[in-house]
Amino acid sequence: MTDVRVRIAPSPTGPLHLGTTRTALFNYLFARHLGGTFILRLEDTDQARSTIEYENDILTGLHWLGMEWDEGPGIGDEPERGSYGPYRQMQRLARYTEAADRLLAEDKAYHCYCSPAELDTERKRQDAGHEPARYSGRCAHLTAAQTASFEAEDRRPVLRFRIPPDRTIAFDDIVRGHVEFDTNALGGDLVIVRSDLTPLYHFTVAVDDAAMAISHVIRGEDHLSNTPKHILLFEALGAAVPQFAHLPLILNPDRTKMSKRKSQTAVADYRAQGFIPEAFVNYLAFLGWSTGTEEEVLSLAELVERFELSAVNSSGAVFDRDRLEWLNGQWIRRLSPEDLIDRLRPFLENEVAAGRIEWMPSDEEISALLPVVQERLPTLAAVGEVIGFLFVKDVEPDAALLVPKRWDAATTVAALDAARRRIADVGEVSWEADEIEPPLRALAEERGWKVGDLFMAIRVAITGRTATPPLFDTMVALGYERSLARLDRAIERLAARAEAS
Ligand code: GLU
Repeated sequence: MTDVRVRIAPSPTGPLHLGTTRTALFNYLFARHLGGTFILRLEDTDQARSTIEYENDILTGLHWLGMEWDEGPGIGDEPERGSYGPYRQMQRLARYTEAADRLLAEDKAYHCYCSPAELDTERKRQDAGHEPARYSGRCAHLTAAQTASFEAEDRRPVLRFRIPPDRTIAFDDIVRGHVEFDTNALGGDLVIVRSDLTPLYHFTVAVDDAAMAISHVIRGEDHLSNTPKHILLFEALGAAVPQFAHLPLILNPDRTKMSKRKSQTAVADYRAQGFIPEAFVNYLAFLGWSTGTEEEVLSLAELVERFELSAVNSSGAVFDRDRLEWLNGQWIRRLSPEDLIDRLRPFLENEVAAGRIEWMPSDEEISALLPVVQERLPTLAAVGEVIGFLFVKDVEPDAALLVPKRWDAATTVAALDAARRRIADVGEVSWEADEIEPPLRALAEERGWKVGDLFMAIRVAITGRTATPPLFDTMVALGYERSLARLDRAIERLAARAEAS
């Protein structure tokens, strides 16, 4: 073990978010690459918005993706593991109180009695004068008498941390390079403890990163402007300042910041749609980073081997769902048949529950189909689309779909009828793809039909859809009797329609 210690610090105020997950992944890859420690800390001090359901969703999602953490809650059967705990901020309140008392005793923080109404008036005045919002420092140097008089009014003070004026806070961000902030632009002295004694984010994060000996803070770029405040707090607490790496934002295709309003951001939704963890981490790793080679399909272990924080890009990373689907398809192809069947089963069960297929295929049935479907699945959930027509009694093809563009209904009925006879002639004993195909090609040639038109009409009659695995493999999977029965039904329905019109 080195002294590299990094953390992911999610707030359980929403389901596991794509951005948090990418941040977790980069922390994980960095720690594993260097033999360091990866820590999970739950920042649950926003009690009004934090829930146990969100907490479970976050832990479940990270476990699902295989990013096991070394310290934190929810490791194995233990409630938590690690010697820097507890790892939930609500269980660390005494530590924040102790640190706050220390800052107060050293005059690095002070009680501020300004009421919300007074602060509001101040802010409005600044707004009107087009000045940046900033605490005036009215309570920064109260006399004992002033303090006593506020106390007598029963005002409950907040604790403000003194932001030193006229200083430049500079640091070398591993991703963004040299960054500087003017302390006069930080909004004035910072509230670190509310009047109800609950501590605030900037304070808890600095206290905890110091106490947990975090060596590198790797987080989203949206936290960049918080960093000078954290550096000042580390200094005031007498703690070593960690190194920082701020990761580029994840953007929508239109280059706006990815938000749950515009895009799907909850990891659980991707899981439910049949993305597999191998592909998901592989995709996320490339949001802002690349190996510098042509390699695209990499396992978590391979990513660990190749990951370099210094190679992370500083410009925004556009989320491309098509690419994620492509990568997912690549990973699905790499699964062993047994593994794939195990992963498909719940999705097939969903299809049954939703009434889209009528019975659950056996493992043997799924296994027989894998050679033709495995490379056609962009997601596990697509399995219903791809093979569902085999597990329903009948399909009800749309008449409009049955009739190829260049044909009319009467031609289609005649063609399906002729095809049915050729197919019946193949017979049950010879029911194989390369026995079915030649007589149908011959038929198209004899009649001067385009092969594509004939095959499309048959495909729709048999499957109800225009895109399927290879037609003759599909017919073999469906079986001789069922294939003929579906052709008969399609012919009947189309003939009735042709007559009626
Ligand atoms: N709880 C913070 C968040 O979820 C953590 C930020 C940080 O890494 O410092 O944004």
